Amino acid sequence: MAQPQIIIVGAGFGGLAATKALRKTAAQVTLIDRANHHLFQPLLYQVATSVLTPGQIGTPIRGILRNQKNTTVILGEVTGVDKDRRCVFVSDADRENVPIPYDYLVLATGVTHSYFGHNEFEEFAPGLKTLGDAVAIRHKILHAFEQAEAEEDPSRHRDLLTFILVGAGPTGVEMAGALAVLVRSTLKCEFRRINPASARIVLVDMAPRVLPPFSENLSKAAKERLEKLGVEVRLGHSVEQIDADGIVVAGERIYSKTVIWTAGVAPSAAGKWLNAETDRAGRVRIQTDLTVPGHPEIFVIGDTASLEENGKPLPGVAQVAMQQGRYAGKLIHSRIAGDPAPEPFSYFDKGSMAVVGKGFAVLQSGKVHASGFGAWLAWAAVHLQFLATSSLRVSVFLQWVWTYVTAQRGSRLIIDPHGSVSGKPLGDSDIRAAVASK
Ligand SMILES: Cc1cc2nc3c(=O)[nH]c(=O)nc-3n(C[C@H](O)[C@H](O)[C@H](O)COP(=O)(O)OP(=O)(O)OC[C@H]3O[C@@H](n4cnc5c(N)ncnc54)[C@H](O)[C@@H]3O)c2cc1C
Repeated sequence: MAQPQIIIVGAGFGGLAATKALRKTAAQVTLIDRANHHLFQPLLYQVATSVLTPGQIGTPIRGILRNQKNTTVILGEVTGVDKDRRCVFVSDADRENVPIPYDYLVLATGVTHSYFGHNEFEEFAPGLKTLGDAVAIRHKILHAFEQAEAEEDPSRHRDLLTFILVGAGPTGVEMAGALAVLVRSTLKCEFRRINPASARIVLVDMAPRVLPPFSENLSKAAKERLEKLGVEVRLGHSVEQIDADGIVVAGERIYSKTVIWTAGVAPSAAGKWLNAETDRAGRVRIQTDLTVPGHPEIFVIGDTASLEENGKPLPGVAQVAMQQGRYAGKLIHSRIAGDPAPEPFSYFDKGSMAVVGKGFAVLQSGKVHASGFGAWLAWAAVHLQFLATSSLRVSVFLQWVWTYVTAQRGSRLIIDPHGSVSGKPLGDSDIRAAVASK
């Protein structure tokens, strides 16, 4: 008899955990992702601020699963699901909407940026979700310093050396802290016409405090730390305008050439593909066995799913996605093997952490609330533990020690695919002029 076909869409935290949980299952598992790598999103801000290289937080999916013989990895974009015919549609570089049949389907497609109805902001304020986003933001930040150094008119330095982060959740706070350390220590002695330490870093949020998921005391500690690092924290007002000149907040214009969106996210299109009930944010409402009502063969997990526990929706964090992935894999395995089904899914909350600059973090786990160097050590240990491979753990650990001791960062290259920083390919005349001027 043919083995059951299991399709998992998304090789993020949820999809990868589900796939690994099926390694001993008598089934054909197909894992589909539009990227060829699993991404450790919690450290994206470190790529955006030059601490780590992209290869230190992204791992080829094929490499991770090379010994899992029942699993095939497909690089492709899922564009829809036909629940009645039980197939997903996949597009890749050569083909469009190819149907692939399934007996079990796990959707773990995560979230994308949300500009809260202001999609026009996206052009001027890129978000941070993929490795491509992180490298583009790194380029934008490094370019701003290069342009300021080349600019002879000091009045133009103000816009170039003002960096604005919109959204003071964990990503905004971590980015602001890392940026402050970059300008005040790493870049300090490298420029002649500008003083990088004079750069202005502004963190804006409509909420009354930074890090809203944390307790008030920890929010306060994080805000004080940011201010000590020289970050201006502006709370209680939403951004009214973002354009090529900067932002307008509470009626005041702040001029800047580098605005970064660290605010909202919206779920993937899974709810639309399934035509299933969603919550107000658009996440698919699932049952306690993580399946979609009326479809015991379809599981939706992680950031793109909505499940309440004790009257509150589970947060969009990596731990929820991983635990749900493991559960979905285990449940599918038990059904195929004819074993009793596991108990309904229950989330085990291990706590939350956010790092604020060098050697300082806030940590909240049950009744334990801590901030400072000890919390930062715990943050570092936990993040190293969850990186995808041992080689990444060693490489990131060494980079952190090196950066801590010397303030030097892992990757400050501006790599322009067009061959020149102006974005235009270098022509023969440019090269001749450059040679002649030597
Ligand atoms: C900048 C940042 C910092 C964060 N920091 C933390 C943190 O410190 N701690 C924490 O717990 N959580 C953090 N999170 C949240 C955490 O990363 C997410 O909760 C987690 O990644 C959710 O896992 P997931 O499997 O649902 O989705 P993801 O990990 O986002 O994976 C989704 C996968 O689906 C793929 N995909 C999407 N659509 C398609 C499609 N149509 N076809 C094929 N493939 C598709 C994507 O390429 C991706 O690989 C952070 C997130 C971000 C963006």
